[in-house]
Amino acid sequence: MARTKSVKHIFVTGGVVSSLGKGILSASLGALLKEQGLRITIQKFDPYINVDPGTMSPYQHGEVYVTDDGAETDLDLGYYERFLDVSTSQANNVTMGRIYKNVIDKERRGDYLGATVQVVPHVIDEIKMRMMELAESGKYDVVITEIGGTVGDIESQPFLEAMRQLKLHLGPKNAMNIHLTLVPYIKSASELKTKPTQHSVRLLLEIGVQPDVLVCRSEKALSKEIKHKIGLFCNLSDTDVVGLRDAETIYEVPLLLHEEKLDAMVLRKLGMKSNSQVDLSSWEEFSHKVKFPKDGTLRIALVGKYTEYPDAYKSIFEAFVHAGAANDVKVLVKLMRSEDVEDGKMTMEEAMRDVAGVLVAPGFGHRGIEGKIQMIKYVREHNIPFFGICLGMQCAVIEFARHKCGLEGANSTEFQKRTKHPVIDMMESQKSVKEKGGTMRLGSYPCVIAEGTKAFEAYRKLLITERHRHRFEVNNAYREILQQHGLVFSGLSPDGELVEMIEIPSHRWFVGVQFHPELKSRVHSVHPLFNAFVAEAKKLRDEKISRESPKEAIEA
Ligand code: GLN
Repeated sequence: MARTKSVKHIFVTGGVVSSLGKGILSASLGALLKEQGLRITIQKFDPYINVDPGTMSPYQHGEVYVTDDGAETDLDLGYYERFLDVSTSQANNVTMGRIYKNVIDKERRGDYLGATVQVVPHVIDEIKMRMMELAESGKYDVVITEIGGTVGDIESQPFLEAMRQLKLHLGPKNAMNIHLTLVPYIKSASELKTKPTQHSVRLLLEIGVQPDVLVCRSEKALSKEIKHKIGLFCNLSDTDVVGLRDAETIYEVPLLLHEEKLDAMVLRKLGMKSNSQVDLSSWEEFSHKVKFPKDGTLRIALVGKYTEYPDAYKSIFEAFVHAGAANDVKVLVKLMRSEDVEDGKMTMEEAMRDVAGVLVAPGFGHRGIEGKIQMIKYVREHNIPFFGICLGMQCAVIEFARHKCGLEGANSTEFQKRTKHPVIDMMESQKSVKEKGGTMRLGSYPCVIAEGTKAFEAYRKLLITERHRHRFEVNNAYREILQQHGLVFSGLSPDGELVEMIEIPSHRWFVGVQFHPELKSRVHSVHPLFNAFVAEAKKLRDEKISRESPKEAIEA
């Protein structure tokens, strides 16, 4: 097994353009090194000034990923957890805002008394300290540090300078830089172009960093000649240039990188032994299932308000990939704007015609709420599998209160401050909260599951923990009437005070959760609720097929 006394550092940077997939590269490399028997963690450094992404709109930043310890973080941490099957924490995501905040707090405390506090050395030193924090925990053999932004951006310069100093300080066998670039294919010339990569590496060289490995994204595989050319102009041997062609699924990326021998190369450069017999069969099986499911496709509506921007629901999409693989189907997620139903742009029948299940998404604010409530009414009355997450569950409770309990005007005080029946209300502990950043009910909390429920059927456990991010909850004053009309509170906080899960036993699968199960679905352990929801949707799909065209169903 490859293990050395000192912790090894891999810095992953990106060049040419953004969105090349540094997060997926880091997660995939981490997964490969984990298969080598190493203890791995991945941390992300983001260049923006927000202390964390919790206060940003999903349009700006995509999903906010919440860790067990309640940190609101970048969605790349979701990839790290899904690929490595380990939990991350606040220490795994550091923004420039947090760095500056620490430096300024220290200055106010008097830690730098007498000094002029400057980017060099104070800010850089703070970054370096943060970059070494997880390594010092003694829990890891290798720390992968993903540096957000694109090389050449003004704002990520201090991170790159900190990386340069750490590389120098730690020495070549202990630290390395992998630079991810793009090699575009120009159709009219039928050629892959290396110039953007050369320029990007030049930018790194200007600040004193020679990348140790280049990973080049491209539409087509890189030929030997292209690798040689890139190596020649970027000061690297041909073998240090790795091609990464576009994959059909991100879950194939570890396999593609292994084919290119990235793992062996990294270990060699870090002076570690590599096991050439490493077993990647679980990844092969998983990506095969994702690409070629035996039981066809299945469409599920994801009802939300950020539908133009799927990154806002990243973990939900991935959880559906995992649940699809577990059920041997490809889940096609149909993003649906709840406002379209509200505005009458779509009738409910049109909206629901081709779907086998409906997930109402998490979210904030009143926009699109009435459309969500109408959709929930429809799926409840038409026995279509329903899964409500956080805001989605709250909308289900409002719908049930209005249409089953006769509580006209029932609402959440989030959408209507003065409401006749506040069935969803702000948690007591939230009422005194003034600051917006990091003050929701965040992170992992236990939940007790009632036996004989769909929730228990899925989890097969009485006590679970799930992650939360919300300020509102089911109002206990309405529990009795909701229960009397057939709503079951299948999951409660251990003290019984907070409703964490609801369901309707007479419905085929109608489950709402106050927490975010999507954050805990992983490649090698699908989330039980997503698994059960997709299984039920698959049943409905098959029933529909046999009703509509019995012959095909039999043949299938
Ligand atoms: N806005 C709701 C709340 O704060 C739901 C939040 C969510 O969906 N994450 O309680």
